[in-house]
Amino acid sequence: MTLLRNEKERGLIADAERLLPTGTRCLTFEDELNFVVGRAQGSRIWDVSGNEYIDYLLGSGPHILGHAHPAITGALAHIAEKGTSYLIICEEAIEVAKKIVEHVPCAERVTFHSSGSEATFFALRLARAYRRRDKILKFEGGYHGMHDYALMSNQWTGGQPPYPTAIPNSHGIPAALRDEVLIAPFNDLEATIALIEQHHDALGGIIVEPLQRSFVPRPGFLEGLREITRHYDIPLIFDEVVTGFRLGLGGAQARYGVTPDLCALGKCISGGLPLGVLCGREDIMSLADPRRRIQMLPFVMLTGTFSSNPVVMSVARAIIGVLEQPETYARIERNGKRLMQGLQQAMSDAGVPARVSGEPSTFQIWFTDAEPVNHRSMHGADAWLNFRLGDLLLRDGVLKAAEKFFVSAAHDDADIERTLAAFRRAAQRIAEE
Ligand code: PMP
Repeated sequence: MTLLRNEKERGLIADAERLLPTGTRCLTFEDELNFVVGRAQGSRIWDVSGNEYIDYLLGSGPHILGHAHPAITGALAHIAEKGTSYLIICEEAIEVAKKIVEHVPCAERVTFHSSGSEATFFALRLARAYRRRDKILKFEGGYHGMHDYALMSNQWTGGQPPYPTAIPNSHGIPAALRDEVLIAPFNDLEATIALIEQHHDALGGIIVEPLQRSFVPRPGFLEGLREITRHYDIPLIFDEVVTGFRLGLGGAQARYGVTPDLCALGKCISGGLPLGVLCGREDIMSLADPRRRIQMLPFVMLTGTFSSNPVVMSVARAIIGVLEQPETYARIERNGKRLMQGLQQAMSDAGVPARVSGEPSTFQIWFTDAEPVNHRSMHGADAWLNFRLGDLLLRDGVLKAAEKFFVSAAHDDADIERTLAAFRRAAQRIAEE
């Protein structure tokens, strides 16, 4: 399919290239395919020229109900006239906190922030304050946001230093921080335990995505991590910015049956409005009680101007209400399963070696025969083919994230059928090239 760009969009693209260092480059390096969004509704997104795409990028995950769901637009229509932010806590935020405590197993106390990155950043600070130790252990390939601690060994960098050496994935990160972050292999309990045994006395906390991108935890991995962190009283932090309220109301911790000490949430809970949530054990979270400051007790600062603002909170409250209806997750799971199976089948039928991994509501494809276990196990996968698939699908009216597919409750049977047909065409094309 040729994607037509009208004059207005071409002008906007030129302006973006001139004004923004990132330009319009988001999905692909093929300039012709990057676009400027005009609008989005339900499972669909349109560029400024009017080209329509079935959307599995979903704003990088948040739109679990689809774009512009009536629960979201309805909440937004009423809230602004009450004011847009107060710093002081509001009714809507307290109601959302109640729901989080009801649904998320680890949540005894809750704080609100403006992004997933902030939530993981503050989770690490709280853990370090609780343990009175500075080092953090994270897993290779795990992404926890854009702050300095998080941007260590979260991507393939062309080298494989031995564990636990961390490599920064961005320039501009202070060199001193490299020694503060230890790296372990996801899904390798034995190696992880050995590292923790060796470094436990220096560790302030351990952060992990329970479903690391699309690597499903091996039976016993999260349980073993839970056991050893409990043994040494090292806070175990689950980064559920993607999985929270996506894998179900209780997120990955409910699905996999392992409860961490702290948890970062974001994305799905606020329908695209900026929100990060930190929740967890009362004794750790209460380090953020400002009364501790005047009592001269250890105190952790973690507030911000926009924390708990009523606009975001009224949307979060409305979304949780829809997610609580049992059919919502059932539909997402059903459609996600069909897509995962259809993608795998399309590649097998075309004779293209590929493995689809993840959970039905968020999954990804690897172009390799190897079993997707963790970041290092996938170094042999053909990353270029992944981009190629994205480009072919985009030309065919199907939008996915660079790596993953996100599924929403707004995707219907017709979307799934059209997408499965696009998978088959793309697989055939890849096989021929
Ligand atoms: N953790 C994970 C697992 C994520 O996928 C992301 C965002 N992609 C973040 C943290 C950071 O969230 P945000 O972009 O809202 O800062």
